Amino acid sequence: MALPISFDDILAAADRLRPVAHRTPMMRSAAADARTGAQLFFKCENLQRIGAFKFRGAYNALSRFSPAQRQAGAVAFSSGNHAQAVALAARLLGMPATLVMPRDAPAIKVAATRGYGAEVVLYDRRTEDREAIGRQLAAERGMTLVPPYDHPDVMAGQGTAALELIEDMIAAGEGPPEALLVCLGGGGLISGCAVAARHLAPGCRVIGVEPQAGNDVQQSLAIGRIVSIPLPETIADGAQTLHAGELTFAVMRECVDEVVTATDAQLVSTMRFFAERMKLVVEPTGCLAAAAALEGVCALAGRRVGVIVSGGNIDMARFAALLSAPAA
Ligand SMILES: *Cc1c(COP(=O)(O)O)cnc(C)c1O
Repeated sequence: MALPISFDDILAAADRLRPVAHRTPMMRSAAADARTGAQLFFKCENLQRIGAFKFRGAYNALSRFSPAQRQAGAVAFSSGNHAQAVALAARLLGMPATLVMPRDAPAIKVAATRGYGAEVVLYDRRTEDREAIGRQLAAERGMTLVPPYDHPDVMAGQGTAALELIEDMIAAGEGPPEALLVCLGGGGLISGCAVAARHLAPGCRVIGVEPQAGNDVQQSLAIGRIVSIPLPETIADGAQTLHAGELTFAVMRECVDEVVTATDAQLVSTMRFFAERMKLVVEPTGCLAAAAALEGVCALAGRRVGVIVSGGNIDMARFAALLSAPAA
């Protein structure tokens, strides 16, 4: 069966994104290499526009709207980063946007979304169904719903993060990655990245990293169908998804070699590492992939490993509170 996205879709997304997205840096850390015995290559999407890779997928999706769709605009539901991404992409493309966000989303994310000029509709994620609210808005206003992960244009856009990382590794004379660690919520990021890796780094082991409290994809791949879980309690708010998407699952089944998990304590320890050693502010979800390497979840010694650092949006008060707890 053909996959929902091809490598050419990722190249086309890269062309659309080139004038507007940051080509985020690839960073190294001698401390990280010493700790793991591997060579780690960090793709710093915490330094992407809106502070996370989600700008890539959202802009790619919105830029493919027809003139009629542009006129009515975009609607999306998101725990935060996808909302900001759709809001900024809509502003850049000159179209209206409405975002459905949970009432308990980090304040910084709600404020940033409004700051991009989008309308924000709040809901209670324990009692209300955000997808129903989003669909209703789409129906009432003729707006196009942009899902956070289960959409080919979103997945292809996210894949440009790995495309750039692998290109930069090769350009630096290091060669393509032998393993690629990618954080995993609904699977949009890893789907795109896995398709890019399959093409540019054949034989590269693609490893997804979920919060330990929300390992629905690990369970789903083990039994071969999509498993739904209750809302996971984890500090990784960008990966609190209840289930994978149909399209992302189809790609993950085919192209993801393994899914591992990281605990909240391991995420905090990784946040501390990024802050102290690399001077990077990384949100808990953004630490998932790196935690699998730095906390010894995956044995990577002797290998060249790409690590996607997915985002850096966190309230400074929360950042300070998490880091000021005694090290685990
Ligand atoms: C959305 C998000 C993820 C998860 O991405 P999926 O495409 O849903 O798997 C990971 N990290 C950050 C920072 C995010 O915003």
